[in-house]
Formats: sequence, C-alpha cells, structure tokens
Amino acid sequence: MDAAGAGRGIGPSLVNQLVHDRSLRLATALAVAIAIPVAVLFYFQFRSISALSRSSDVILRQLSQETAGGVAQSLQDALKAPYINVLLRVSQAQTEPLDLGLIGPTLEQGLENEPFVQRFYVWSDQTVEHRDEVLAYDRDSHGFTTNVPEGPLLVKRFHELAPQKHAISVFEAVIDGRRTYFQGQLRFRFPARDKLTSFVALRVDAASLRREFLPAFMAARLKTVEGPTDLPRLGVTVLDHDGRVLFPVGGVAPTQFIDERVFPLVFFEPDLQPLIAPERHKPEIWRLRTSYGNQTIPAIIAARERPQRALMYMLLALLAFSVFFVARAAAREVRVAEMKSNFVSSVSHDLKTPLALIQLFAETLELGRLKSTERAHEYYRIINSEARKLTRLINNLLDFSKIEAGLRRYKREPVNLTDLTRRVLQSLDSQFRHGQYTVTSELASDVPVLIDAEAAEQALENLLSNAMKYAPDRREINVAVDRVDGYGVVRVTDHGIGIPPRLQRKIFRKFYRIQSDAGSGPQGTGLGLAIVDHVMRGHGGFVRVDSEPGRGSTFTLHFPLHAGESHGDETDSGDRGRAADVARSA
Ligand code: ADP
Repeated sequence: MDAAGAGRGIGPSLVNQLVHDRSLRLATALAVAIAIPVAVLFYFQFRSISALSRSSDVILRQLSQETAGGVAQSLQDALKAPYINVLLRVSQAQTEPLDLGLIGPTLEQGLENEPFVQRFYVWSDQTVEHRDEVLAYDRDSHGFTTNVPEGPLLVKRFHELAPQKHAISVFEAVIDGRRTYFQGQLRFRFPARDKLTSFVALRVDAASLRREFLPAFMAARLKTVEGPTDLPRLGVTVLDHDGRVLFPVGGVAPTQFIDERVFPLVFFEPDLQPLIAPERHKPEIWRLRTSYGNQTIPAIIAARERPQRALMYMLLALLAFSVFFVARAAAREVRVAEMKSNFVSSVSHDLKTPLALIQLFAETLELGRLKSTERAHEYYRIINSEARKLTRLINNLLDFSKIEAGLRRYKREPVNLTDLTRRVLQSLDSQFRHGQYTVTSELASDVPVLIDAEAAEQALENLLSNAMKYAPDRREINVAVDRVDGYGVVRVTDHGIGIPPRLQRKIFRKFYRIQSDAGSGPQGTGLGLAIVDHVMRGHGGFVRVDSEPGRGSTFTLHFPLHAGESHGDETDSGDRGRAADVARSA
C-alpha cells in the first residue's frame, strides 16, 4: 500500500509484489471480496433508481394525458348537456300545437341541471294559443312568460337562418351590453322543410359562463383527479381563444405544458359542426392545458433522481474509502505479525551466532592448545567483537522495550561529536578488520553537541553495523564529522546494496526489514534504524538517508550544535525531531 508503488500502475513489479507479499494479497482479496457484492448491490440500486424514474415518467405522462383528455371531455359534455337533455327532447316531444304542460317540467329540470343556461325559449307558428309568440322560461319565473324583449330578435334571426335548413342554429348578440350566445333547435314543415314551424332555444351569458360556471365546474371536476403524492401536482389551465386564462381564476398560462386539448365552445356535439347554421360560423376555440408547474417531465425526473444518485455516489465513495482503509489496516496487521515472527527468529539467530563463536573460541583458548600468542590474540579479539555484537543487540532490545513503554530518557551532556565518533570507530575496529572493511574518516576537530553520549554511540554503532552488514562486496566505509547548518553531523557512507527510494521512509519503522527475494540476506531485528530515529528525535535532531540501489547508502545523523555553556539536561524520548520525517522524505 505504498504511495510510490501505487503511482507506477500495474506493472510486472506490482504483480510480482502481489504474488510474494502476503499482506498485499490479503488486502487485495479483502478489497475484492467486499467490492464485488458492493458493486452488485450498487448496480441493482442504480437500476432500480432508473426503473423508478421510468415508472415516474410513465405515471406523470399518463396522469397528464388522462386528466387533459378526461377534463376536456367532461367540460364538453357539460356544455352539450342542455342540447341533449332539453333542446332535443323538447323538440322531439313538441307537438303542434304546443303542449306547454309537457314541455314545462323538462325546461324546469334543464335550468336546474345546467347552471350556465340563463333562459330557454319555445316558439311555434302552429299553435292556437301563443301562436307566433316567443315564450321564455327562466329561474325568475319558473313558468312561461311572454313578451320577452329579445323575443323578436330570436324569431328574426332563426327565420334568417332557416333557409339553410339546419336543425341547429346559433348566433351571438349583445343584450343589455352583455355578450350572449343563442342556440336554437329548429323544426320545419314536413317533408318539404321549406318553412320554419317551431323552435326551442337557449341563452347563455358569455361572461357568467367564463367567470362563474367554468371555475366552479373545474374545481369540482379536479377534486376527483388524484396524483402520486411524492411527485409535483398536476395543474390544469383553461384558456380562451385570446389566450386569456379562464381557469384557474387569476392564474398565468404555463410556459411548459405537457398536454393540450383544443375544443370549440359550442353547446352541442362538436361533430355536428358542419350541420349547423350559419354554415360559416366559426366557434370560439378554448384550450385546456396540463402542466407540472412550468417543469418538463424529464426535468422533474432528473431533479428527483439527483439526490438519490448523489447519495449513492457518496455511499460508494464512503465504502471505497472504508474498504481501502480496512484493507490497509489488515495488510499492516499482517505485515506487523509477519515482522514480529521474523523478529523472534532473527533475535534468536543474532543471539546464538555470537554466543556459539564466543563459546568455541573460549573453549579452544581454555584447552591451551594454541601455540602462537598471535593466534590467541586473534581469538580474544573475536570473542571481544562478538561480545560487543551481543551487547549491541541486547542494548537495542532493552532500548526498544523502553521506547515502547515510553520510558526512554536521554541524559544530555556536552560532548565533542568527533571524540565520540572516534571512540565508536575504535571500539568497532576489530570487527572492521575481521570483516576486512576499509574505514576512512574525515573528522572535523571540534564539534560540540549536547547529547546523551551512550544513546548517540548506540545510534552510530547501529549505522556502522548496517554499513558492514549490507555491503558484502565493496567493503569501504567512510565516516565524516562536521558542522552543517547549525547541526553537528555524522555521516556514514557505504558502497553496499543500497535502498530503493520508495522504501527509504519505511526502513525507520520498527521491525521493518527489506527482505531479499530468496529471503537469504543478512539477519537482523528491524529495530536498529527505529532506535536511531528515536534517538535523533529525542535530541531535537534527525536522521537522513541518501541511497541508490546497487551503489550504496549514506546515513547522516544531525545533532543540534551546542554553542553555550555545558549543563546537564534530561529530555523525554518524545517526538521533538519531527524534522526527521521531512528530511527523510525529501
Ligand atoms: P536490521 O538491520 O536489523 O534489519 P535496521 O532497522 O537496522 O534493521 O534496518 C532496517 C532495514 O533497512 C534493513 O533490514 C535493511 O534492509 C535496510 N538497511 C539499513 N541500513 C542499510 C544500509 N546501509 N544499506 C542497505 N540497506 C540498509
């Protein structure tokens, strides 16, 4: 889960890593195991959102279509009702002479059922009584009245229209300053149809039709229209031929309408239009439109889908993050477990090897079989060097356990870094010689620092021990002490196997070891550099590594210079040297 590694994409090295790295395998398996069901779940969830959208789309369209069609139809039915229920009936039942007793109840019922009809009229030239007289029937009289002012007009206009021989005749007139529609059902002399014999007619006031009847009718009709509650409400608008909004009263015409029904304002079956007089009569056209508050259906669906989809994407991102972190944590745990198990075997090995050597050489010396004193010296030297290795190992272990427990304290005192380095080099001299390492040094004369000498020596020893361990071929080590930018600096350079850049941060983690592919390489606990790092932080300094695989490494310890008076100072093990991170990652 290394950032640098991930950046390179899936190359052979990543595949290789996947095959060999158990923790990476576990993380990948975990991620895949979670990702597959999650992907399936989300796939179906997205599908169901789409399906829901499609069905919402259908519902909205159907509701609009059915409402537009249904309401327009029932409005037309209401407008033609007096024609069917009154005019046609009366006309068929109309006897010559007029039987007012028979007609009266039909007209009365007509007025009751058809609120927009102001008045009915009957006229006949065949009757004995009321011959050629227009009889009106309205809500005021609830009976027939004669001598209505518009009577002569009706007779005149229907007689004018009669030659067209159509049963239905319509005309408009302005009565008392009000626009009024008249519609008559005419009867002619049989069979020649050459003379108007009677008519039954109705009168409608244009203004009250628009302002009273229509709003009341629509309000009542729309009460029965029900839509889904979670979708925008369907609005219905009725416009007249001039585009004025008749319903809702005071409303505005929607710019985005879904359906529109166009129908003529007539009080009979619109199909009969060709059969009415006057033939060239063009009825007013009304429009009924349905809309969802100026929104198109796709816009409504998209707005409904948006939060759902956004939520899904958020969940997806959240899940992806959690999977990533869980997988990473799991991988880390596995890696730490692996490192710990390697640690135990490394410690055992690191303890056993020097002990075995010490035992072997000590026994040989004890038996006194050695002839040359030089040989004996050599053996003593080996025993000494192996004992130092043991000491270093045990010190590292003790230090590590103290660090882990938060108990490691550094007792700081003024020290000359050059002297300290020299001491460490001397103490390791026999190991250098035994391993045939050439050690060169460039030591500035006086580099005063305020440090815990023992801890600093241990850190430097760890670096030198690594310089030997990880440089099997070119056995040259250079050690330099100097002052750089306010720091007392010790630099250890080897020409060994080097460290890949992406691992240069990781080597300072506890237990972390770079394993060779075959697992052969040098043994170790993975604690040396973790301790070096801790020591440096504890001193307000830092450690830096510059390395190139195959060419060698340089580890540099930076201790803050001590410029003032020498005085003892005890510091916590804490994280003072945060600069270490920065420097290492640079
Ligand atoms: P150990 O040496 O016990 O494994 P360290 O903490 O000292 O543990 O080092 C961690 C890892 O860093 C080592 O396992 C090794 O892979 C790498 N390393 C440390 N020093 C060097 C070096 N001088 N050259 C190459 N690799 C090194």
